[in-house]
Order: sequence, then C-alpha cells, then structure tokens
Amino acid sequence: TPLTIAIDGPAASGKSSTAQWVAQKLGVRHVDSGAFYRAITYLALSTCGDPESWVADDVLANAPRISWRLTERSVLPLIDDIDQDTALRDAPVTRQVSRVAQMLAVREWVNQMVRSAGAAVDVVVDGRDIGTTVFPDAQLKVFLVADSWERARRRLVQRLRRRPTDAEIAEETEELVARDAKDATQSAPARDAITIDTTTVTQEEQVERIVALARA
Ligand code: C5P
Repeated sequence: TPLTIAIDGPAASGKSSTAQWVAQKLGVRHVDSGAFYRAITYLALSTCGDPESWVADDVLANAPRISWRLTERSVLPLIDDIDQDTALRDAPVTRQVSRVAQMLAVREWVNQMVRSAGAAVDVVVDGRDIGTTVFPDAQLKVFLVADSWERARRRLVQRLRRRPTDAEIAEETEELVARDAKDATQSAPARDAITIDTTTVTQEEQVERIVALARA
C-alpha cells in the first residue's frame, strides 16, 4: 500500500509548508487538499453569481474543469489544465471558500480527487479532515496547533515581508478565528493523531519531528 501521511490543523498553522517540506525530505509528493476547495471556489466566483445564493449543484458543475497532475514534488491542481496557484490564494477566494467547504457534495468531490492522488503515489496530505475522513488509515497523522496571534503574525510576515504592527496582527487574528469557526465541523483531530503545538518551535524542528515519526 502507498505511504500516506496526514497533516491537519487550523488556518495558517503552517500545515502546507510543513507538509511540503516533510514530503521533500521523504521523497514523496505533497497534496494540498485546501487547494481543491479553493479551485472550485475560484470557478464559482466567476460562474455562480452572488455567493449568498450558491448551491452545491451549480458549484460542482465546474468540477470537470479541475484536474491534477504529478510534478516531481507535488500533486498539482489544474484549472482548465493550467496551474492557478497564485490566484487561488487571493482574498476573494479565501473569503468564500469556507462556504463551499460546508457543502457535503463538494467535500465528497474533493475527497475523491485527493484519494485518487493517494492511490497513485506516496503522499503527505494537508487539510482539516485528512486523518479523520479522507485517509482514516494513514500511517501517520499529525495535528498542528498554534496560538492564533502567532499564526496571524507568521502569515503577515510572509505576506508583507516586514514586521507587522500590533493592529495589523489583531485584524488578521480576527479573520483567522472567524474562518476557524466556520471550518470547525470538519476540523477535529483524529483520535490517533499526534498533536504538535508549533507556537514556540521552529518550522525546521517541526519538520524533523514529523520526519522522525514517519521513519519510526
Ligand atoms: O488550507 P487552506 O486554508 O488553503 O484551506 C482553505 C479552506 O478549504 C479552509 O478554510 C476550509 O474551509 C477548506 N478545507 C476543508 N477541508 C480540508 C482542507 C480545506 O474544509 N481538508
């Protein structure tokens, strides 16, 4: 059976970059499950009108436009055969993605995409429900947590490339906490997940720890 490692946690907990780095060290592919939620949201923004009135059937009508291909290091989501990673991180997508992620039919579609990738190759997958729902039999499950202020600070440093002010961090914290609340239903740690609090450890230490667990 292929190797599957699940890395779950709240928004901006460092899941994606950690998962990417762990995958690289283990020589397997990284799958960012959130990118599939973002991709279907991105298409809904241009074809489904007012987000308040979105329904799963209309949102999923765009699903055939989304696929993935293997790169050396990842399972890369494609929209109309094009990598749109930068657009998927835009604020309008981030604002609406939790709405789409609440639609069960959308969750089933994403799960299918991610499982098909995991059936093809060894993967480190990050998300919210990977260890609980998508790959309940994953060989290793990690749940990353971090203080919300610290998560907001890290995200802003990445985005602004300077030291954020306290006011900026406060605003970003509010946004993260609101998104976590919307994502709460699908965000519990699996019973057999190992929780790592990353508030005070460096990313390198986190990665080393997960790689050691994977090799154990
Ligand atoms: O991980 P990222 O922040 O890019 O995920 C974007 C959104 O996709 C989350 O806020 C959540 O609504 C949804 N998501 C999810 N389940 C996953 C991954 C992402 O519900 N496994």
